[in-house]
Amino acid sequence: MTNTELNLAGKSGYILTMGEILVEIMASERGQSFRRPGTLLGPYASGAPAIFIDQAAKSGGRCAMIGCVGDDDFGALNVERLRTDGVEVSGISVVEAATTGSAFVTYRDDGDRDFVYNITNSASVFLSAKRLNKDLLKQAAHFHVMGSSLFSPSIIDAMKKAVETVKANGGTVSFDPNVRKEMLRIPEMKGALDFILDYTDIFLPSGHEVMLLTSATDEKGAIDELLERGVREIVVKRGKDGCSHFNGKAELHLAALPVQEIDPTGAGDCFGGAYIACRSQGLSIEQSLKYAIAAGARAVTFRGPMEGTATLAQLDEFVATLSE
Ligand code: ATP
Ligand code: MG
Repeated sequence: MTNTELNLAGKSGYILTMGEILVEIMASERGQSFRRPGTLLGPYASGAPAIFIDQAAKSGGRCAMIGCVGDDDFGALNVERLRTDGVEVSGISVVEAATTGSAFVTYRDDGDRDFVYNITNSASVFLSAKRLNKDLLKQAAHFHVMGSSLFSPSIIDAMKKAVETVKANGGTVSFDPNVRKEMLRIPEMKGALDFILDYTDIFLPSGHEVMLLTSATDEKGAIDELLERGVREIVVKRGKDGCSHFNGKAELHLAALPVQEIDPTGAGDCFGGAYIACRSQGLSIEQSLKYAIAAGARAVTFRGPMEGTATLAQLDEFVATLSE
């Protein structure tokens, strides 16, 4: 544990991420089942790291992404969207032999979601160390890892190389485990998450993920263990119950904004993107958390995981209308 506050604005360069790019296609009604025909909405731009980097770029960060899409309209939709929102897309390869990833979502009556994924058999599988864009890596001041991206040995290998390189160049790393429990039964997966955690400066778990990679039996014990291990900041995301920030010196617990949730997908990714971009521009922890909370809340008021991404000015406006 060190005593100085983590400075993300000290090194100039890209906020870089790498991982799956996909479209999301969703049921138009709650309770709709994929076991019979129904009306679908989409395609919407998606993929956890893509949502993260889109929000980070809109928040004013200098951003780039490494990924793979197929030579199809789903890929073009995503790349165009990221480019328009200010993300450097030269690290995204078009793999002619593959199809862009997709996810089909239904919403249960209680709001829970079920997914049919085409990711592990999509263009994203072609991500490997040889697709690591050296120019972008060299220019990265910060690298963000989404646990959901670590679904193949070659991607795990590429991700390890990326975090090692960025850290060796004096950059920082953030890590959102964004992982389903079943994934941890794959031994390489647990090992990969542990490896990434050793390089992590900012850890961004959901509430139930805090203890995932620790031996602790409660959240406080897990936070202490993570800080002891060298993680500098832990931001716990708690959905409509807000978030908490720990750095070994102070604790902050902030409420969520009161909004009507329309589609929860993407809130955590938008939260993370806004937080990292704000810290990279020198905003305080508290100010950055406020924008992250606003980005998470705004995201859930839109159908489609990337449709709620917003600039800091739009987030200010959004918060102002909520308090009217
Ligand atoms: P996911 O389950 O998609 O991985 P996550 O656990 O990473 O999501 P959440 O905690 O759901 O992330 O959301 C991140 C932040 O967005 C929350 O801390 C909160 O500030 C905001 N948020 C999420 N859901 C809501 C909501 N229903 N109302 C208001 N704010 C919300
Ligand atoms: Mg998440």
